[in-house]
Amino acid sequence: MKRWLIPFTVFLGAASLAASAADSIDAAVKHELPSLLAFYKERHAAPELSHYEVASAAAVAKELRAAGFQVTENVGKYLDPTLQGHGVVAVLENGKGPTLLIRSDLDALPVQEKTGLPYASSVHFKTASGQEVPVMHACGHDIHMSSLVGTARVLASMRKSWRGKLILIGQPAEETIDGASAMVRDGLYERFGKPDFALALHDWDDLPAGKIGMTSGFAMAMSTQVDITVRGIGGHGSKPEKAKDPIVLAAQIVLALQTIVSREISPFDQAVVTVGTIHGGTKRNIIPDEVKLELNIRTYKESVRKQILASVERIARGQAEAAGVPADRMPIVTLIENEFAPALFNDPKIAARIGPAIKREIGAENVLELPPVMGSEDFGQFGLDGKIPVFMFRVGAVDPARYAEAQRTGALLPTLHSPTFQPLPEPTIETGVRAMVASALELLK
Ligand SMILES: [Zn+2]
Ligand SMILES: [Zn+2]
Repeated sequence: MKRWLIPFTVFLGAASLAASAADSIDAAVKHELPSLLAFYKERHAAPELSHYEVASAAAVAKELRAAGFQVTENVGKYLDPTLQGHGVVAVLENGKGPTLLIRSDLDALPVQEKTGLPYASSVHFKTASGQEVPVMHACGHDIHMSSLVGTARVLASMRKSWRGKLILIGQPAEETIDGASAMVRDGLYERFGKPDFALALHDWDDLPAGKIGMTSGFAMAMSTQVDITVRGIGGHGSKPEKAKDPIVLAAQIVLALQTIVSREISPFDQAVVTVGTIHGGTKRNIIPDEVKLELNIRTYKESVRKQILASVERIARGQAEAAGVPADRMPIVTLIENEFAPALFNDPKIAARIGPAIKREIGAENVLELPPVMGSEDFGQFGLDGKIPVFMFRVGAVDPARYAEAQRTGALLPTLHSPTFQPLPEPTIETGVRAMVASALELLK
């Protein structure tokens, strides 16, 4: 009954406003696209490792300042006092309303790029230990930076369509998952205000460009890092009987660790145990006295995480005992506390608002519901353990023709972190910016 009392012109006004907002996002993004593409290629060719994102942070800061934001640099305090925080915080206030945080990460990976692209990275970086490593944006954080700059420009140009406060974040050290917590530790919310919502996007290797993937609820797993120092007794390669070989022992530990997920964890619980690095020895005829293993553990439940940690400890020790390693040379298992990422819980209430908004912007057929993954992110840290609702959506990055071909032939597409990962920048950035702007306008109505 009541609705008949609302004047017809109100409906008309609201409808035409919505239509013009949708038109203008598309047009504004198209207008920015050539320069965003140039920005992307520049960043792609100049990747920087976690904790060393000096030029990436400066480039993002410069663009956000030019878009009219109040920018603060070098935000972030690590537990390791020798590391500098290169976080960027950009604020734009636009009247009374909610506060929205939108985050991009800045860092790249120690991967030798093999895409053969004209703007491929040939960057090498000398680490603190003097080791020279290749660097590549193999996770697409350059896509995220470009999308953040695009989102900033478009939202700044559409100030009449939203109310509130925007806090845009250039976050360092996502790959080592200590950057978000470093920014929070440096007084992010005390200095710049606490957001009502936080959003982020991640490019995706299993989704064609032009599509957005949404997962409501638990979306990404907890990530736990563990080191094992396998100790033996060094000696001459020709006299194994006078030594305790930690290389053979490390190999047995690596294999035995595989039985945790296959034989100890319920098939109804998700878990991954990966030994990502194994380092030991200097010369073929020397039995070294130690080997280092670096493990990455993914889980959703805290109880499963605890169970795996106990199993790692037990297996390492048990294998060493079986090998006859003396009691004072037992393996040392170290949990890296400050490189822990909590599981990412995508707030269903945010999903219920931005899902329809993104569908209106890019078409319902281009928005897919995706299952959770075992990948991890430290973006969840911005939610302060569930106090602030957060949501991260995925942006398809694969060339649609290549994706269709792979579907047909069963060929494997390069995954994130692979030396041949190759997002198709133009439609990926365009879709990322459109989806993020539509989400922001919905949350800052
Ligand atoms: Zn990554
Ligand atoms: Zn990433």
